Amino acid sequence: MTQHVWGYLPEYDEERADILDAVDTVFSSGQLVLGKSVSAFEREFADYHGLGHCVGVDNGTNAIVLGLRALGIGPGDEVITVSNTAAPTVIAIDLVGAVPVFVDIDPDTYLMDVDQVAGAITERTRCLLPVHLYGQCVDMAPLRALAEEHGLLVLEDCAQAHGARHHGALAGTMGNAAAFSFYPTKVLGAYGDGGATVTDDPEVDARLRRLRFYGMEDRYYVVETPGHNSRLDEVQAEILRRKLTRLDAYTARRKAIADRYEEAFKGTDLITPKTAPGNEHVYYVYVVRHPLRDKVIEELKARHDIALNISYPWPVHTQSGFAHLGYGPDALPVTTRVADEIFSLPMYPSLSDEEQERVIDALFDVMGRL
Ligand SMILES: *Cc1c(COP(=O)(O)O)cnc(C)c1O
Repeated sequence: MTQHVWGYLPEYDEERADILDAVDTVFSSGQLVLGKSVSAFEREFADYHGLGHCVGVDNGTNAIVLGLRALGIGPGDEVITVSNTAAPTVIAIDLVGAVPVFVDIDPDTYLMDVDQVAGAITERTRCLLPVHLYGQCVDMAPLRALAEEHGLLVLEDCAQAHGARHHGALAGTMGNAAAFSFYPTKVLGAYGDGGATVTDDPEVDARLRRLRFYGMEDRYYVVETPGHNSRLDEVQAEILRRKLTRLDAYTARRKAIADRYEEAFKGTDLITPKTAPGNEHVYYVYVVRHPLRDKVIEELKARHDIALNISYPWPVHTQSGFAHLGYGPDALPVTTRVADEIFSLPMYPSLSDEEQERVIDALFDVMGRL
């Protein structure tokens, strides 16, 4: 074990027959693009959420882009979100010509600090974009109340929160629309790229379907609003159908791994994740925090050959491509401070107990030398 970066091979080893059967099912079907598997997956993923509609798209970034466009968000509109997220959240806002507006994060959960949202609303604000980061949900009740009060739309970024619950409600069911990614590492991952936008609103669904298909109705080849080619691939859809039936089992394994870490690091200087009240965490990433983060990571690599990830080392507002947004180095103090201290422990369903023990022992060794 030289690297602790997730690889799909152990999973493929276990699920190979089913995955290859999915591939064969599509190749034998006679329709390789927008065929039976995409429509079946869309129905099953919508049903899983108890929602009316799901539109399969090519990746999570475009799930956000199409979601924003389908909600009518465009040039000049302000979208309130966070800087502690995967850059694609913010890239998607930028791509539709809208302006990302950042609020700081909660120091315990590292999620959107909902108390700061009211102060960020201007007359140009059109949309709130909470990111259910790492596998747990943003506090949605106050956010929805603000949206109602100010006539704003809500698009949830659920790329890290498949199956996560908030006071019983599934991530993706608490806004006007929600975007998912099926990038291979995600809680529900394809064998390549994939994404989906879900909604309960039939008009938003109709717009999403046109937007992912050049802007055309399937039957009438007339473009009213130029769209994208953002279709979910038929093979990925069939694989996702198979894996959706195992989603709750994958999550149960992630939770067991999280419990083991929690137990092991109790009472140490390593701060383990805090689950906000009412949340069921799915642990897409297991984010811990240590004041000497860089030293811990360096020593783990040097002494134990264990490489860990940081999600995310550079808050979006500090990246040069977003300098035009005008956030200074002190604009989001919690986001900036947390980014220097967080790192992620290995977390994926195929992580074995032995591998996890080795990581825990190595961390104790390194922390004992600090
Ligand atoms: C992965 C991710 C995305 C982008 O999804 P892709 O499928 O990689 O385009 C967007 N937002 C968040 C929070 C993500 O983790």
